[in-house]
Amino acid sequence: MRATVMYGAGDVRVETVPDPKIEQPTDAIVRTLRACVCGSDLHPYHTMDPADGPSPMGHEFIGVVEDLGSDVDGVRAGDLVVAPFAYSDGTCEFCREGLHTSCVNGGFFSTAQAEVVRVPQAQGTLVTLPVGEDSELLPSLLTLSDVMCTGHHAAVSAGVGPSTTVTVVGDGAVGLLAALASRRLGAEQIILMGRHTDRTDLGREFGATDVVAERGDEGIERVRELTGGQGTHAVLECVGHLPAYEQAMGVVRAGGVVSRVGVPQYTDGPIGFGMFGRNVTLTGGAAPVRAYIEELLPDVLDGTIQPGRVFDHTVGLEDTPGAYRAMDAREALKVMVRP
Ligand SMILES: [Zn+2]
Repeated sequence: MRATVMYGAGDVRVETVPDPKIEQPTDAIVRTLRACVCGSDLHPYHTMDPADGPSPMGHEFIGVVEDLGSDVDGVRAGDLVVAPFAYSDGTCEFCREGLHTSCVNGGFFSTAQAEVVRVPQAQGTLVTLPVGEDSELLPSLLTLSDVMCTGHHAAVSAGVGPSTTVTVVGDGAVGLLAALASRRLGAEQIILMGRHTDRTDLGREFGATDVVAERGDEGIERVRELTGGQGTHAVLECVGHLPAYEQAMGVVRAGGVVSRVGVPQYTDGPIGFGMFGRNVTLTGGAAPVRAYIEELLPDVLDGTIQPGRVFDHTVGLEDTPGAYRAMDAREALKVMVRP
């Protein structure tokens, strides 16, 4: 089959690799209908040492089940399914607590930008979707594998609800969908921090009430002006770089919550008295996407939310390297890959 492989920073190729096969009785083999490139794929695209490669790529996909191991129940060949970016058994103590990303038998997908994907722990991982292969909902359903559920996780972890004010840091797909998730949860004020007007315009349609294009101290000042000088109850950090974290700490209200879902590209940052003295909570982390799919799926199926609008380009699998380039150059917000 054909699959996407990263060899080092800026070096993404599509190659012929062996077809995946059932290796464990808990596996499924899924033919990819749609995959996509994630903002987090751009981190290794910037920094990967060739000595650490080559590495297969991709962790978001929907597809059709082709083959099943003997222990998989509840999923059938021919089912159209979505997989979260982490696989999980659905039965261990962490899965039962809704923290599927810490499943004792789990792990993370890294082979989804390909024609076929092996799915470990298929019974716990896959969710069957009641649509056909030609459904117009495929882009929005694809976001349930990561970005929609990750934006939702940011909001839920921060306690976003009807009386909450929210700042979203970042106008990538996760940031825009964190705004959508906050609106869905009833937040009254949603301030979106981002500089790309085409993106922040979509963010407004998703529910952002204010947009702040300024960064750094100026951006913090603008958010404070919009919130009576105090900042917001919840800050959803959807970037992962240190300046975004510093921005988040600058706009959070005393007693508020900073929730991070951008994969942190730093190991040191402000956690001192500025945070302690103001009783700021830091939370968030890798989104347990599997825990949220059943809750969000009905809203996607009936069109209440249309998270698939974050896809502004579609390419064939052979053009996946161009998808990385376009997202890196900010020419594309999020690129869907259609094998
Ligand atoms: Zn588990």
